[in-house]
Amino acid sequence: MNIKSMTLPELEQVVRDLGQPAFRGKQIAQWLHRGACSYAQMSNLPTALRHSLEAQYPFTPPEVIRRQASAKDGTIKYLWRLADGNCVETVLMRYHYGNTVCISSQVGCRMGCAFCASTLGGLVRRLEPYEMLDQVLFTQIDAGLPISHIVLMGIGEPLDNFDNVMRFLELVNSPIGLNISMRHISLSTCGLVPGIRQLAQRNLQLTLSVSLHAPDNETRSRLMPVNKAYPVEVLLEACRDYFAKTNRRISFEYAMIQGVNDTQEAAKLLRKRLRGLPAHVNLIPLNHVEESPLKPSSWKAVVQFQNMLESGGIPVTVRRTLGGDIDASCGQLRRNYTRQRQA
Ligand code: SAH
Repeated sequence: MNIKSMTLPELEQVVRDLGQPAFRGKQIAQWLHRGACSYAQMSNLPTALRHSLEAQYPFTPPEVIRRQASAKDGTIKYLWRLADGNCVETVLMRYHYGNTVCISSQVGCRMGCAFCASTLGGLVRRLEPYEMLDQVLFTQIDAGLPISHIVLMGIGEPLDNFDNVMRFLELVNSPIGLNISMRHISLSTCGLVPGIRQLAQRNLQLTLSVSLHAPDNETRSRLMPVNKAYPVEVLLEACRDYFAKTNRRISFEYAMIQGVNDTQEAAKLLRKRLRGLPAHVNLIPLNHVEESPLKPSSWKAVVQFQNMLESGGIPVTVRRTLGGDIDASCGQLRRNYTRQRQA
């Protein structure tokens, strides 16, 4: 395992195995979680220990290969090159409640959603816990802004990388490191029901976001192949159980697509399906992806949809689109970079 993926007790074991006192483990953790780029920087460690660590647990920071800052809203998008040459992206968004990073959990994705750029090249591999942590650390360092909130809404399906994501959460939540509270973290899933059930067992205080995008199986299966395995009723049942276990209100993502899922009938059905489930609906006007024929809904359709849900007492927000001028959505930067290189 990469040393940056290790928890404090694991680091203490590493130093003990090297004949050193346990407090060295804490020192190493502090350096790593502050974004140290080499053992040479760890000036309070004995030189011999630094050399042994270098030999046994080498690590490299990710490298920024693209940085795009929105002139409009301060959003910054990063494309990182990982140690093995793969690329992932991270977005920093400035909200009134704090600086938020949207991180990737996989290189590519195998979920195949029809509207999403991240899945076009399939899944390359899952990210290691430290590769998710590095996105937070190095965005914070590069931008010079403290990060208080994290959303797992970048490239990849977090519940398709369950164990690594759980370990990442433990790392960012650690008081020795970034100490980001679970209540400031959102995890978004396309609806992998076994993963939702497994997550419920952990009883974390994070916010679960479920990408619903359609209230009926016909439309949802067309947009999201995962629906064939876990249809809407099964998904919403898992969401009800999730709430019963964690007492955390669920947030449903709904990308508004012209003529596909934005009708008044769809809104009525959604209202019916969410009855009695403490939920919040996030309407997102679709971001256009070049390879896809799908188009965003008109503002009028979005507002009518919102009104219909609100008439049923469902809280709705229409998400502001940030970083529209910098490819800042869902795998588009990585996609464009890869295409340019191929050309
Ligand atoms: N795999 C996870 C998280 C990554 S995607 C998931 O599916 O939830 C983060 C959110 O962006 C999801 O709600 C996803 O459906 C949505 N999304 C993907 N492509 C989009 C697009 N072109 N326009 C609007 N939302 C999109």
